[in-house]
Amino acid sequence: MSGRLEGKIACITGAGSGLGQAMALRFAEEGATVAAQDLSREAADETVRLLDGAGHHAFGGDVSNEEDMGTVFGQIYAAYGHLDIQVNNAGVARLPGDGFDEMMAGEGPQISLMSHAAFTKMLAVHIGGAFLCTREAVKLMGEGGSVVNLSSIAGLAGWGSIHYAAAKGAVLAFTRAAARELGAMGIRINAIAPGVIDTPMTARVDEALLAPMVGMTPLRRKGTAEEIAATALHLASDESSFTTGQWISPNGGLITI
Ligand code: NAP
Repeated sequence: MSGRLEGKIACITGAGSGLGQAMALRFAEEGATVAAQDLSREAADETVRLLDGAGHHAFGGDVSNEEDMGTVFGQIYAAYGHLDIQVNNAGVARLPGDGFDEMMAGEGPQISLMSHAAFTKMLAVHIGGAFLCTREAVKLMGEGGSVVNLSSIAGLAGWGSIHYAAAKGAVLAFTRAAARELGAMGIRINAIAPGVIDTPMTARVDEALLAPMVGMTPLRRKGTAEEIAATALHLASDESSFTTGQWISPNGGLITI
């Protein structure tokens, strides 16, 4: 039986860890050739080593850096000649100067303690990165393709820090607007807004902060990276061929809107 992504070329950013790595593994299992991109080229290399099949490549670079992404997508074009799937997954939850530690120490609300640089850097990585990678990916897609953006329940409902929530909310608005523009080219673009998922990103968060959220989750557990990869597979593949400009929130029932 052939896989659901047989013959497809898929670029996944942030593929060296967590959700991105799980997506790379699942997409390759389903027959895709994976361009694994990450800030750390070594981390992307490690993901490629885990993949079955030939033709997968690793790429380094910062998704918020226009020159880096010009280079990466130029290399993807040189390697494959086109692209079918783009997953804008790279992200961070914390940044130096974001005031989180000071807020936790009781010095005040995080908005009062956050530097402008930390706020704008968060936007640059999440929404700036989604913009740059989508712009470059669309050039390689021609007539038809699928873009999947990683938002969060933070973007839906304001959970988490303000810079992160603002960035993830912008990803949802970007997804809706881009769907209107790209539909005529046969390119679909959708978003995933996960709840609390067990990855290296959440492993860096104090368990005492996550436990109340997990306690309020009807399914009473964190999600797994494989569960998010399954949602990404659905949106990336032709299974979701009439779906664009939408979001899906695998969150165990924590948010139901
Ligand atoms: P993760 O394990 O930390 O993986 C994120 C990957 O992205 C890391 O390899 C990271 O590299 C890389 N990255 C960070 N900044 C980058 C940049 N500027 N350019 C290129 N790569 C960059 O996190 P994850 O949990 O898998 O999260 C993946 C995505 O899902 C993120 O967008 C996150 O916001 C979103 N999300 C996660 C959850 C969750 O509960 N885990 C929930 C909702 C949404 P470094 O390790 O070197 O920083």
